[in-house]
Amino acid sequence: MRNILLTGGAGFIGINFLIFWIKKYDKDKIIIFDKITYSANFKKIKKIIKMYSNVHFIKGDIIDNNLIKKTLKKYKINCIINFAAETHVDNSIKYPNKFINTNILGTYNLLENARIYWNKSLFKKTHFHQISTDEVYGSLNKFQKSFTENSPFNPSSPYSASKASADLIVKSYYKTFNMNVTISNTSNNYGPYINIEKLIPKVVVKILYDKKIPIYGKGNQIREWIFVNDHIIGIEKILLKGKYGQSYNLGSKFRINNINLVKKICKIMDGLFIKDEKLKIIYPKANHCHISNSKKLISFVPDRKGHDFKYALNINKAKNKLLFKNSNNFDDSLTKTIAWFLYNKNEWNE
Ligand code: NAD
Repeated sequence: MRNILLTGGAGFIGINFLIFWIKKYDKDKIIIFDKITYSANFKKIKKIIKMYSNVHFIKGDIIDNNLIKKTLKKYKINCIINFAAETHVDNSIKYPNKFINTNILGTYNLLENARIYWNKSLFKKTHFHQISTDEVYGSLNKFQKSFTENSPFNPSSPYSASKASADLIVKSYYKTFNMNVTISNTSNNYGPYINIEKLIPKVVVKILYDKKIPIYGKGNQIREWIFVNDHIIGIEKILLKGKYGQSYNLGSKFRINNINLVKKICKIMDGLFIKDEKLKIIYPKANHCHISNSKKLISFVPDRKGHDFKYALNINKAKNKLLFKNSNNFDDSLTKTIAWFLYNKNEWNE
């Protein structure tokens, strides 16, 4: 039985992981540890803890040494999955200190407390898994090959630099202390519970209210997109058979530039509003007659500072060693994500 500390469990990917894990591994105890920042969905967490007696919640900061120490001991934690992070690149340009504190010092605090506690404990098996990003590798040009786990770190923003630093500290705990650690580096996720600040929902909301859709530069930046459920299956595989000390790229190989993605979202939105009259009732203030050619709302704005051109992951290691694969097709899953967002207005604040 695992006693899992799920840090950042109230965020977008954390919630999806939680929903998946409690259904499949109902003997495990899960302690959600989350600061409940602006990006958390506390409403959903409250519902889940009411439904499952093996799921508990602690409001706290991963940088809080005493609280982490007490929590590990109280719940006899033998597995930590660290989703907790400041995640928005734009915010990291405005407030880098928050990213340094949570993403670097917070990860260090978790590792150090786990090392001390697990050294003293009688656990046969312990595991620390760090959730990380493809952004640690920096940017590719048009002609470069996708990043492997051996590509050097070359981060561009305070966000990606803070995640890269955390990955290196996690690795050092394997090399120096022989701690059972693994890391996953994933690409852009999308799916249910996606945070409103992310590109897909942001565009949906702009279209709903007939507002301009700002696109950085010319929208040529290429990103790789993975449906959140595929990412979670990858994490499951690492937790079950990942090799300690290793990192695994979890991507989809589906790459698209921002402008083409936004055009796809526009097309899906136009289609959904034509098909379903119910949406007009859910969104009475939306400018319905305009949701038929939403592409016209696209507007180009000056590029973000240090904006990376392309991210692309080579996922052969996870494929070959863990039998990781992507089951979800992009267009279908994008439509599913937008529909989830539109029909679950109670899950996000307009
Ligand atoms: P999110 O912003 O939706 O959620 C982050 C969660 O962490 C929130 O619930 C927040 O309250 C919590 N948190 C923040 N600071 C904390 C602190 N100091 N102590 C405790 N809790 C804190 O993020 P997400 O999209 O779910 O991302 C989860 C992880 O996946 C992050 O580590 C992120 O770097 C990584 N990642 C995300 C994506 C993506 O596309 N969303 C892509 C690559 C990697």
